[in-house]
Amino acid sequence: MDKIKMTTPLVEMDGDEMTRILWQDIKDELLTPFIELKTDYYDLGLKHRDETDDQVTIDAAEATKRVKVAVKCATITPNASRMTEYNLKKMYKSPNGTIRAILDGTVFRAPIIVKGIEPCVKNWKKPITLARHAYGDVYKNSELYVDRPGDAYLVFRAEDGTTKEAFIQHFDRPGILQGMHNLDESIESFARSCFQFALDTKQDLWFGAKDTISKTYDARFREIFTTVYENEFREKFEERKLVFFYTLIDDIIARVMKSEGGFIWACKNYDGDVMSDMVSSAFGSLAMMTSVLVSPHGYYEYEAAHGTVQRHYYRHLKGEETSTNSVATIFAWTGALRKRGELDQIQALEDFADCLEQAVLETIESGKMTKDLALITSLEDVTVLSSHAFILAIRERLEMLLDKKSQG
Ligand code: NAP
Ligand code: MG
Repeated sequence: MDKIKMTTPLVEMDGDEMTRILWQDIKDELLTPFIELKTDYYDLGLKHRDETDDQVTIDAAEATKRVKVAVKCATITPNASRMTEYNLKKMYKSPNGTIRAILDGTVFRAPIIVKGIEPCVKNWKKPITLARHAYGDVYKNSELYVDRPGDAYLVFRAEDGTTKEAFIQHFDRPGILQGMHNLDESIESFARSCFQFALDTKQDLWFGAKDTISKTYDARFREIFTTVYENEFREKFEERKLVFFYTLIDDIIARVMKSEGGFIWACKNYDGDVMSDMVSSAFGSLAMMTSVLVSPHGYYEYEAAHGTVQRHYYRHLKGEETSTNSVATIFAWTGALRKRGELDQIQALEDFADCLEQAVLETIESGKMTKDLALITSLEDVTVLSSHAFILAIRERLEMLLDKKSQG
């Protein structure tokens, strides 16, 4: 069988620890035997980030702007112990943070659903995609503890010398205060990314906030979503029979629990933080989630939602066998390849991505899986495989599926 040819490269961002090991194995076993893989390679492994003073992360994000599609391996965000472990020059920022700041956009996460790993909510039949706004609110707040009587005000001093002021509370005893903000521009690009992603994935979009209580702050989110929808997306949604609606966050939650899934749930920053953990754990595992950053300028960066699985890596270094789940990393590749195929109109690439995903799901459904899944599956005859053996089992099934397809 001829290998599938690509016309434009993907930006490939390599990473750290156990996921770096899986990364190479996935390429060797599941990709390069079938595709003439074209990538623009950037090594975001911590050692190389340090050697380049983190310039490589910036270069990788800039390259993504040129070719539009990137796939990223999990990377270490340095903390104090990593400083000594890697003898770093600096405590570099999170690569994801750096990349998001350059590409702008929203992170969409959806569970990968497979028979045998059942959601805790029994009526959830299809994935629920969570879209989290990643700027501002309580994540960029200022707080005070006040220990004596007094008056609290919210004060804005404009550069033209005018001021705006709002009374918060008269304190006659100790208490707490918090100030936070967001920006029209950031909310607009959040809204655009959500609408665009809904169109791309042919799903309805739900958005909830608390504008009955927060009549200026949360109301601004509702107003911006409504304006962007009316001006830029209503026609396209109606053409494709998709629905956008806004309602109170309480109402959304009640509907989510009773739904069968299959929609995008847009959340403000804090709601997204909390609700994505609820959704992902109710669906099974972080290693069974897709994650993609969608920028309002049409750039896509696919990744796994979990980290570098450090504990498994140290076992691997000691020569011990690991059973690390590569599904989210494989789906990062298939997401990127499918998008590449779509943009470059290479049907074979899109079909290959579908086939590889099907091979992954069928492998698990046949009872072959990694240890993390074996612990939660409802299947009975389960074989726990090592990291490498799991990838080989997927390859075997992939070859079967491709054979079947080529025979028509
Ligand atoms: P982690 O890598 O997600 O792993 C935490 C634990 O979750 C693992 O020890 C393992 O549990 C389980 N786990 C996660 N992914 C798994 C998989 N694919 N297969 C099987 N089990 C899996 O989080 P962490 O240990 O807190 O972070 C390690 C490094 O990752 C940190 O340096 C952090 O900065 C980085 N990180 C990167 C990203 C990213 O690049 N997107 C995201 C988060 C964290 P058991 O040990 O019990 O088997
Ligand atoms: Mg959280």
